[in-house]
Amino acid sequence: MNTEQTRKRLVIGNWKMHGLLAANASLLDGLHKGASAAPGCDLAVCVPFPYLDQARTGLQGSVVSWGAQDVSKHEQGAFTGEVSAAMLADFDCQWALVGHSERRTLHGETDQLVADKAIAALSAGLTPVVCVGETLAEQEAGQTEHIIARQLAPVLALGAQQVGRMVLAYEPVWAIGTGRTATPEQAQAVHAYIRSQLNGLGVPEVRVLYGGSVKASNAASLFAMPDIDGALVGGASLVVEEFLRIAAA
Ligand code: PEP
Repeated sequence: MNTEQTRKRLVIGNWKMHGLLAANASLLDGLHKGASAAPGCDLAVCVPFPYLDQARTGLQGSVVSWGAQDVSKHEQGAFTGEVSAAMLADFDCQWALVGHSERRTLHGETDQLVADKAIAALSAGLTPVVCVGETLAEQEAGQTEHIIARQLAPVLALGAQQVGRMVLAYEPVWAIGTGRTATPEQAQAVHAYIRSQLNGLGVPEVRVLYGGSVKASNAASLFAMPDIDGALVGGASLVVEEFLRIAAA
């Protein structure tokens, strides 16, 4: 079955550790006012934890949803500094990024931990956005598919019912924040591989986003690829006009 047409495009902004109340207010206001210019596209922002309430207030009544950039695998308890999925749900979050390469690299997150976080998010009614991607060295060694398969293995092992409720994001580490985007053909090749894994599991409807230096100038050519269902956008999501142009691409 070709479900390409039934997978609605999704563009998610990842603010990372940027923003303060005043700057966020104007960004959220711009999104609220401008988001309807991108019909046919689901639009969301993943903001730092302290600003979830601000995002909720600023985006309520708009077509833009919001989420967090990480979530604990634990339900509750003595886990200082962690934030549970139920807490995110308390702020009406729809999304939780899990396994972003900065978490994997800087915080030693393992493939299994990422899968555990995805399950925790699902249990609280959130949609996990599971990020995977290879480093430059791995790409140059021709290991891209092997790395993606390894990262996805504990996630896919959760089964079709769980994976069918997720979003995946392919983010080559060498393209994140570097200004160096994968070509549409390079990205499509990896997305097609991920799609084959999802088809094998019986969940062809799962959306697979591309991330890594997506801008208004390259979004349309990436979105033209049959297995790219949208984007996870870092830097460019901090500039409202740029972010909306990506969504409209
Ligand atoms: C990201 O943080 O997920 C990302 C893709 O960043 P950038 O768009 O800045 O490369």
